[in-house]
Amino acid sequence: MKQIVVISGKGGTGKTVLTGAFAALAKNKVMADCDVDAADLHLLLKPRIKERHIFKSGVTAFINKELCTQCGKCREICRFDAINKNFIVDPISCEGCAFCSFVCPVKAIKMGENTSGEWFISDTRFGPLVHAKLGIAEENSGKLVAQVRQKAKEIAESENLDWIIIDGSPGIGCSVIASITGVNCALVVTEPTLSGLHDADRVIRVAAHFNVPVKLIVNKYDLNEEITEKIKKYCQNNSIPLVGKIGFDELIVRAMVKGKSIIEYSDGETKEKITEIWNKLQKEVK
Ligand code: SF4
Ligand code: SF4
Repeated sequence: MKQIVVISGKGGTGKTVLTGAFAALAKNKVMADCDVDAADLHLLLKPRIKERHIFKSGVTAFINKELCTQCGKCREICRFDAINKNFIVDPISCEGCAFCSFVCPVKAIKMGENTSGEWFISDTRFGPLVHAKLGIAEENSGKLVAQVRQKAKEIAESENLDWIIIDGSPGIGCSVIASITGVNCALVVTEPTLSGLHDADRVIRVAAHFNVPVKLIVNKYDLNEEITEKIKKYCQNNSIPLVGKIGFDELIVRAMVKGKSIIEYSDGETKEKITEIWNKLQKEVK
């Protein structure tokens, strides 16, 4: 069983469109929506909820980057190795002991409130989906993401499925770390803007820190071919496989409005491109 997560440095780059398209193309898979702060994969997949569970978790440490002087004391004492060298807490490893918050000399660490929310197992026309809804005003979503992934894995194992297709969290916070750790491939979707490249670079660094193999896709590449060229060079310089470029296509928006994946909605060039990318991923992701 292989796990692939689609992520982006920030929201709105076409991450969910691609996840939905892969969900339509892949055989024998379970989907996991780990964008728990702003889940919208359900708009495409229209799940029929089979199981509903309340989620409660303990506390997790948060480091305020503005206050942190990078003295390293917290890292030294954390016996769960939950704080990485960039002073970001891995929410899966953090046991919520709060020891770090006591030793921090500048009070940069606070313990996050209990996460609460709900998670669901649903049926969709493409197969099972595990998804979640975070409670209002909750900021610590990493553990909920970990829960969604754990359940998806259990389903994949019990039903002998080949793929777990994950719609990852955007950004570089704790929920994205929880979405990418342990996957076989993180597929970063970016748009051809300098800020898009910058955001992609940040999330790629996070993935590299957790030893997650990364591939990249440029969405709407034809909106700025000059920057697309820069992204290509960036990939070459950093040994990141560029698995494909998708052109701007207003059919994607129309498909979304109809609650369909682009694979179901049209037989045009975009469908062809994404199918090509998926076939490539099937061969390359180990
Ligand atoms: S102990 Fe506090 S100041 Fe020192 S690295 Fe950790 S968070 Fe930053
Ligand atoms: S709360 Fe405990 S486990 Fe979590 S980062 Fe701090 S020291 Fe490590």
